[in-house]
Amino acid sequence: MKPFLDARTLPHHTEIATDLAIIGGGPAGISLALALSNTPIRVLLLESGGMAFDARTQKLYRGTETGVAYLPLDATRLRYLGGSTNHWGGWCRPLDEDDFEKREWVAHSGWPFPRKTLEPYFARAQALCEAGPFLYDKLAAPAATMAPLLNLGAGGVYTSFFQFSQWKDNPQHLPTHFGERYAADLKQLANLTVMLHANVTGLRLAADANSLDHLDVATLSGKRFTVRARYAVVATGAIETARLLLASNDVMTTGVGNQNDRVGRYFADHAIPRDTATLVSFGGNLAPYYGNNAVAEDTHFRATFSPTQAFKRQRRVLGSLVTVEQQTKLDELATAAVSETSATLGVDASGATAYSLGCGIELMPDPDRRLTLAGERDALGMPRLELAMRISDDDFARYRETLRELGRQLLAARTGMIRLDCKTREEWLAVMDWGSHHLGTARMHDDPKQGVVDADSKVHGITNLFVAGSSVFPTYGSSNPTMNLVALVLRLADHMKGLFA
Ligand SMILES: Cc1cc2nc3c(=O)[nH]c(=O)nc-3n(C[C@H](O)[C@H](O)[C@H](O)COP(=O)(O)OP(=O)(O)OC[C@H]3O[C@@H](n4cnc5c(N)ncnc54)[C@H](O)[C@@H]3O)c2cc1C
Repeated sequence: MKPFLDARTLPHHTEIATDLAIIGGGPAGISLALALSNTPIRVLLLESGGMAFDARTQKLYRGTETGVAYLPLDATRLRYLGGSTNHWGGWCRPLDEDDFEKREWVAHSGWPFPRKTLEPYFARAQALCEAGPFLYDKLAAPAATMAPLLNLGAGGVYTSFFQFSQWKDNPQHLPTHFGERYAADLKQLANLTVMLHANVTGLRLAADANSLDHLDVATLSGKRFTVRARYAVVATGAIETARLLLASNDVMTTGVGNQNDRVGRYFADHAIPRDTATLVSFGGNLAPYYGNNAVAEDTHFRATFSPTQAFKRQRRVLGSLVTVEQQTKLDELATAAVSETSATLGVDASGATAYSLGCGIELMPDPDRRLTLAGERDALGMPRLELAMRISDDDFARYRETLRELGRQLLAARTGMIRLDCKTREEWLAVMDWGSHHLGTARMHDDPKQGVVDADSKVHGITNLFVAGSSVFPTYGSSNPTMNLVALVLRLADHMKGLFA
C-alpha cells in the first residue's frame, strides 16, 4: 500500500508533473480517482485537509452573507478528505426525468442531455454510496408487506422512496464517509498519488488564455509549489469551485471560465423549512417507515411524498419532497376540525394520529443568488466569498400548492387531512433550514453565454480544465445531490479515459 503524501513535507517551490490533477478529495474527487484505476493515466489528487477535522483548515472556508439567512459558509461543508460526506445524512434518490428537461415554466431549466444519458452510471454510483440495490419506488411492494402504506388515492402526489447510504461494516450505522471508507482502496492504486494538506490557490492559464498551464498549491505551514498537469478537474464542492475559478483572475481578469459572467451565479440549495404542516392520519399510527428509516431488500429506506411529473407540469410547480417528522399533539381547534371533518366523511377518527411534516424544496434557478469575491483574504492569501442569498415568495407558493394537493387527496381517500402551519413568507423564513446541498455555481450549458461548462463538464474556452460535482447542475430537482453527482463523475471518468486513449 502506498501511503498518502503530506504536502507540508515537500521542498519549497517543488514542481510536480502529472497527467491528471484532481483538485479536492470529497465524493466527487474520490469517485473520479477510483474510476480511473487500472488505467495508464497518472493521477494526482490534491486535498486541502488531512484525514480529520482541523480548525485552521476549516477556517479557509469562511465567508460573508447578505440577504435571506443561510448557514455560515464554514459550517455548511467540511474541508478534509471525504469532504462533506464526513457528516452527510446519506439520503439518496436519483433525479427525475423532468429534472433534466427544459420546463417552460422554470426559467433557465434544462440539462444538455436527458436522464437516460446518466442512467448507465446510477448503479455504480449507488454502489459507491453504499445505498444497497437500486430500488427506490420499487420499494413500495416490500414496504406494504411490512405495514400498509397511507392510502393517498389518485392525484398529483404519490408515495416516493429514498434509500440511505450505509457505511459497510461500520458498527455505528453511519452513512459512508468517503475519505475514511475509501482510503485503503486509494492507497492500493498504482496510478494514483493522494497528497494531503495541499491547497490549490490558483488555476494559472497559459498567456493565450485557452488552456491551463499549471496549478499554484500552498500549505498552511508556508510551503508553495507548482503542479503541471495535462488535464485538471476542479472537484472542490459548488461553493469553493466558484471561488477558485473567480480568484484565478490573473490572465482572464474576470476569472477562469467567467468570460460571460456566469461563474458563481445560480447558487442553490434545497430549502427545508421545518414543521411546515401537520398531517392527521384518521386510521392512527403511520407505518414506521414514514418517520424513520426501515430495512427491506438489503437497503435502508424511508417513504416520503412527491409531486408527479404530470402534476408539476399542470400546476407549474417545481420538485419537492414531503417528509413525515415527529408525532405531534393537536390543539383544540385542530381536534375540533378533525372531529367535524371525519364526521362529514363518515369515518371513525377516534384513534387519529398527527405528525409534523418537513420538506425539501427545489428553488427556481436565479442568476442573482450568487457568490462573488469579497475583499478579505484567508490565511493563504485567497479572497473570501460573499453569498447573496435569495428565495422568492413564488418558491413557497409552489410548494404550498403541492401540500394542498396532498391534503385534497387524503380527504378524497377519506384517510386523513393536512393543516398548513406556515402561511406567510415571514413564518416560513422563521423556521427555515437548508440541506447543505450546494448546487449550480458552474452550470452546464451547451451555450457558453449561459453556462460555465459544456455537456462533458469541460470549462468553456479552456481546452484542459473540467469541473466535477453538483456545481454543474443547471436545474436541481428535489433529490439529494450526492448519488447523482457521483453518477455524473463516473460519466466524466469515461470521457477522461477517451482523452488519454
Ligand atoms: C450536514 C450535511 C448533510 C448532508 N446530507 C446529505 C444527504 O443526506 N444526501 C446527499 O445527497 N447529500 C447530502 N449532503 C451534501 C453532500 O455532502 C455533498 O453533496 C457532497 O459532499 C459534495 O461532494 P463534493 O465532492 O462535490 O464536494 P465536498 O464534499 O465539499 O468535497 C470537496 C473537497 O475538496 C477539498 N477542497 C476544497 N477546497 C480545496 C482546495 N482549494 N484545494 C484542495 N482541496 C480543496 C475539501 O477539503 C473537500 O474534501 C449533506 C451535506 C451536509 C453538510
